[in-house]
Amino acid sequence: MYSEANTETWLNLNKFSKSLHWLHRLHDSTYHVDNVENVAKNKTIYFMRSTSIEWTDKSHNFWHGCTKISSGCKFCYMFRDKDKYNQDGSVIRRLSDQSFYKPLSIHEPQKVFINSYSDFFIEEADDWRAYAWEVIRDTPHLTWQILTKRPERIKECLPNDWGDEGYPNVWLGVSIEEQMYFHRAETLAKIPAVVRFISAEPLLEELDMLVVKNGKRIIDDFHWVVIGGESGNEFGPHRYRPSEIAWYERIVQDIKSQTRVAVFVKQLGSHLRKTMKLRHYHGGELAEWPSGLQVREVPE
Ligand code: SF4
Repeated sequence: MYSEANTETWLNLNKFSKSLHWLHRLHDSTYHVDNVENVAKNKTIYFMRSTSIEWTDKSHNFWHGCTKISSGCKFCYMFRDKDKYNQDGSVIRRLSDQSFYKPLSIHEPQKVFINSYSDFFIEEADDWRAYAWEVIRDTPHLTWQILTKRPERIKECLPNDWGDEGYPNVWLGVSIEEQMYFHRAETLAKIPAVVRFISAEPLLEELDMLVVKNGKRIIDDFHWVVIGGESGNEFGPHRYRPSEIAWYERIVQDIKSQTRVAVFVKQLGSHLRKTMKLRHYHGGELAEWPSGLQVREVPE
């Protein structure tokens, strides 16, 4: 069971002896960061996998579970995956120390997406976040990508030493699936970060990324825009919603022609896969898209 005392002890041990036997075992194993804890036959088993998210190298979860807060959450894949294992996605739980601290055993630089199965700034995780920040601080060779739908909570959840520019190894992003959520970008624009990004996924309507507030374009405080269509089934509880190719084209065109922001088109989603007869299962194969959308830039 998790306890603060256990965590502190673990951190101290790690600082003084990175050659602890079990750390070596972690390092020597086929290590992938996206660890999923599954309950099978009354036992908790651990398996790890590479992420299929095209704009990162790995994903890592400090905790699982979430509550739905906006339209983009309707068919959240975390709930879908939890359903598969008869788990309740609305139960927010910290992962075991073994999973929580696994990034400390990654030695090669890479981009790590935090909490693909939750929201890093969700209130229910307030007691655990300081320990996650310690892991992030102790792995300066990793580039941590934090994407949230709760940017109004970021400020109060930042560590004391975040500074005027943010940690050099942390990118902060907000999801914007409909125009009504563009206020998330306005909120994040006021928070120091070396890279700020917008994820327009699942893209549910046409978006204007060039919004001006108080005489200033919000997008000019950002470095990266990722675009993606919803993937899912045609029927049942985990479906996809329609999207139009013109929505993608507008974002790419606006950003490329009027800003210096990097753009990454991740996937066109299941609806366009069907209507455009794409081969890739969620429209994620760049070569199948109109040439104007074949762009996958990453901030320097
Ligand atoms: S915030 Fe993210 S993880 Fe949470 S329910 Fe919404 S889509 Fe799922």
